[in-house]
Amino acid sequence: MKLKLRGHHLLCLKGFQGYGYDENFVKNMTFINSKRKLPQTIISLCDSADDICSSCPNLIDGICEDKTQNERVISMDREVLKKLDITKEYISTELFDKIDEIFNTKGSVSKICFNCKWSEKCLFYQKLSNNR
Ligand code: SF4
Repeated sequence: MKLKLRGHHLLCLKGFQGYGYDENFVKNMTFINSKRKLPQTIISLCDSADDICSSCPNLIDGICEDKTQNERVISMDREVLKKLDITKEYISTELFDKIDEIFNTKGSVSKICFNCKWSEKCLFYQKLSNNR
């Protein structure tokens, strides 16, 4: 299967443990999180609404919440995407291995995760060391 994912959601998926905005969102995120662990899943990258946003109650007229919030999440996406090749389709398991290599300290995600309301529940963020 093919998935389209925005940059910062690669980190969200690593930390997902069943929390989300509503039941429909959690169901979809759980499905995508199971598919992204399969080597036959192919991922394309973006900095706009993706296959996770499509089931999110915060997606309004194709953008996240409002203009200000949408710009904020796009800048988070770009912080992740600048370390990857946005023109490429990735084998999902290889892409997430790469994410582990690149984002391996709290310092490495400071511009992405600093203001996230899920950070205390996020397995990915909690496991990162404080070393920069
Ligand atoms: S619409 Fe916004 S809050 Fe919802 S999943 Fe997408 S980026 Fe996250």
